[in-house]
Amino acid sequence: MLAELACFKQKCGARFPIDEPIYNCRTCGALLEVSFRNGHIHAEQWKKTWRERRISNEVYDQSGVWRYRELLPFDGYHRQAVSLREGNTPLLNAPRAAEYANLQHLTFKHQGFNPTGSFKDNGMTCGVTQALRLGKKRVACVSTGNTSASMAAYASAAGLDSIVFIPHGNISYGKLAQALEYGARTLQVEANFDQILALVRVLAERLGIYLLNSINPFRIEGQKTIIFEMMDQRDWNPPDWIVLPGGNLGNTSAFGKALRELRDLGLISVIPRLAVIQAEGASPFYDFMRNGGAFRSQPDPHTLATAIKIGDPVSWPKAFQEIEVSKGVVEKVSEQEIADAKAIIGRCGIGCEPASAATLAGIKKLTLAGVISESDDVIAVLTGNVLKDPDYIYRYHTGQLKDPEGGNIESRFGNKPIVAPNDADAIARILES
Ligand SMILES: *Cc1c(COP(=O)(O)O)cnc(C)c1O
Repeated sequence: MLAELACFKQKCGARFPIDEPIYNCRTCGALLEVSFRNGHIHAEQWKKTWRERRISNEVYDQSGVWRYRELLPFDGYHRQAVSLREGNTPLLNAPRAAEYANLQHLTFKHQGFNPTGSFKDNGMTCGVTQALRLGKKRVACVSTGNTSASMAAYASAAGLDSIVFIPHGNISYGKLAQALEYGARTLQVEANFDQILALVRVLAERLGIYLLNSINPFRIEGQKTIIFEMMDQRDWNPPDWIVLPGGNLGNTSAFGKALRELRDLGLISVIPRLAVIQAEGASPFYDFMRNGGAFRSQPDPHTLATAIKIGDPVSWPKAFQEIEVSKGVVEKVSEQEIADAKAIIGRCGIGCEPASAATLAGIKKLTLAGVISESDDVIAVLTGNVLKDPDYIYRYHTGQLKDPEGGNIESRFGNKPIVAPNDADAIARILES
C-alpha cells in the first residue's frame, strides 16, 4: 500500500509525502486527504483476519481502530501507536427510540463507550500517533470539549505536551474536567470556536506545534474505523441509512470516505445513505444544501448541544461530496426536539450527550416527511457519553432548561427527583401515588 497526502481539489491534484507536517495543500490551500494506492487485495481474507484479531491479546489487535490497520496510512508504524483500546463500541437495539421515531427497528452505534467517552478517540489515536511519527513534542487543538478531552488523554499516554484552546464559558464541565485531569495546558480564550481556530493555526505554524483539529487528515482516517467496525459487526451488510450529528463535518467526511473505500475494495456492495443532522441555531450546512449557491458560514452559532455549535465547518467540501455520493440528506432540529430525543434515548437505558440526540430527533423528522420509511434499516451514531453534560440533564428533568435565547425548554419526558421526609409511611405513600 502506498499512502500520500493529496489535495482534496481534483483540479489542483497536488500530492505530498505522508510524513509532511501540513494540514492544507501547499499549492492551493484546500483541504488534504489521505489517498491510497492499493494493489490487489483479498477481501475475504481481510475480513477473516479482522475477525480473528478480536480474540488476540495484542493491543493493536484489540483496538477497534488499529485492528483495521490495512486501511490506515501507517504501514507497519502501528507498533508504535498510542492506543487506549479505543473503538470496540457496541451496536444497541433500541425499540423505544424506534417507536418514538416511527421506525420498526433502530440501532445505535454508541461511540460514547470509548476511553474518553466520545468518537474523537477513534481519530485521536491516529492523530497523536502521526505526531509521534513526525517527532513532534507538542500538540494542540481548539475544541468545544470532546476533542480536547481526547487529545489530552492520548498526548499524555504518548508522553507529549498538550495545549487545549477553549471558547471561554462555552464548554460542559464534564469535558473541561477531563482536559484538566489528563494534564493538558488549558487556555480559555474570549472568542468563539471559529475565531480561536484561526488564531491557533497561526500559533501552530509559528511554534512548531502539531495541530489536531479535524482538518488534520489523520484524525479523519482514524474515524473511518467507526464504519469499518460497524460493517464488521453486521457481517458486512450495510444498513439503508447511517445517521449522525454534523458540527465541523469531519465525521461526515470520515464516514463517507470509509464507505467509498469499502465499496471500491469490494468489501461492501452498496453505500448506505448518510443523514446529517444539525441544530437549528448552528446549521450552515443544512442551509447550503437547501439553498445552493456559495457556502455561507454562520457568524454567531448557538445551541445547547455544544459539540455541534459550529458556524464555519472546515470540512464542508468533503462532507458535501459524501452527501452527494451517498444520496444523503441534511436535516436540522430544534433545541426542544434535541432535549426530548435525548430523554427518550435515556429511557432506553442507553443515554448520550445532547449533540448525539440530534440523530433521533432528525430521524423522527425524516420519517414524518417520508424520507426515511418505517421499515428502513437505520443506524444512528451516538457520538458522546451521557455523563459529558450532567448539568443539561439535571436542568431538563427539573424543568429549568433554557434555550440559548432564554426561552423555556419543556420537560416533556422529565423525571424530577423527589424530596422525601425521613419517614417510612410518608415514603410508602409517595411510592404508591
Ligand atoms: C465532535 C462531536 C460532534 C461533531 O462532529 P463533527 O465531526 O465536528 O461534525 C458531534 N457529537 C459529539 C459528541 C462530538 O464530540
